[in-house]
Amino acid sequence: MWPNKFEYARAGSVDEALAMISDDGKFLAGGHSLLPVMKLRLDAPAHLVDINRIESLSGISANGDLTIGATTTHAEIAGSAAVQSMCAALASACGQVGDQAVRNFGTIGGNIAHADPASDPPTVLVACGATVNIQGAAGARSVGAEDFFVDLFETALDDGELITSVSLPNCSDCQCAYVKFPHPASRYAIVGVAVCLKMDGDTCTQADVAVGGATVKAVKCAGAEAALAGSALDDAALEAAAAAVKADIADWLAGDIAYPESYRQQMAGVFLKRAVRAAS
Ligand SMILES: Cc1cc2nc3c(=O)[nH]c(=O)nc-3n(C[C@H](O)[C@H](O)[C@H](O)COP(=O)(O)OP(=O)(O)OC[C@H]3O[C@@H](n4cnc5c(N)ncnc54)[C@H](O)[C@@H]3O)c2cc1C
Repeated sequence: MWPNKFEYARAGSVDEALAMISDDGKFLAGGHSLLPVMKLRLDAPAHLVDINRIESLSGISANGDLTIGATTTHAEIAGSAAVQSMCAALASACGQVGDQAVRNFGTIGGNIAHADPASDPPTVLVACGATVNIQGAAGARSVGAEDFFVDLFETALDDGELITSVSLPNCSDCQCAYVKFPHPASRYAIVGVAVCLKMDGDTCTQADVAVGGATVKAVKCAGAEAALAGSALDDAALEAAAAAVKADIADWLAGDIAYPESYRQQMAGVFLKRAVRAAS
């Protein structure tokens, strides 16, 4: 499998990358989604602008909130003490992406720009109320993760816009977890559930829940959140939340011949309970 012919150029700064990108061009980060798509001839960009050497796009800073540069790899995020402490669910999700080679090359910016419904990080970003920071020719803007993921492989990015970083609130006082049912070959999520729970003693005072994999995009689950909030996370609350989550995702279900929509919807309830037990 060979891609169409394309021009390659490496950008040294965000401004340079934005000046280099054209209507028929694409940014190149880890290449772990873009190159397969090009080899399958599902896309044929004429120009690739490599953003891997732009220093300002890489790294993790923990000043109050957590900010993760777009070209930071899954392996770096999974191994970061700051991420483990401030958003354990994100460290866990990135540690469950594909295999070690994929985690060493794949970046968080490329992952969310591609918006594969079976990806892991988007589910945590939606649950935890992350913000996606974007730079374009018209200037900078920030979009909440819930609004960033629009539909199947569709985001709020406009043509030529570059994700510069994602920001997350400090969740170190929350109990959060990400659990997934991985595809046996690719490890992509057939179902992935992220929960972020605020506790007062044995009582859950606030629950944030999102589901991915089973859905065309990561979906925030208000019904499941309401079922968990105010409860002691006992079996009755978990059963109510599992029932509610299936209704929450009903309009967004995804499926295939091996794992149809109805199966994934059922599994979302099962994995929600596992996520809550893992977090609490
Ligand atoms: C075998 C295999 C298994 C995988 N398993 C999993 C898994 O289990 N879970 C999971 O979540 N993911 C999985 N992935 C995907 C992987 O995690 C990568 O994150 C993903 O491939 C995209 O990241 P990338 O850096 O490689 O982006 P690229 O492939 O370089 O780019 C992807 C798209 O994003 C655009 N883009 C890249 N960076 C930016 C930016 N900063 N701003 C705007 N647009 C940008 C590109 O133009 C392109 O359209 C798997 C991939 C492979 C090959």
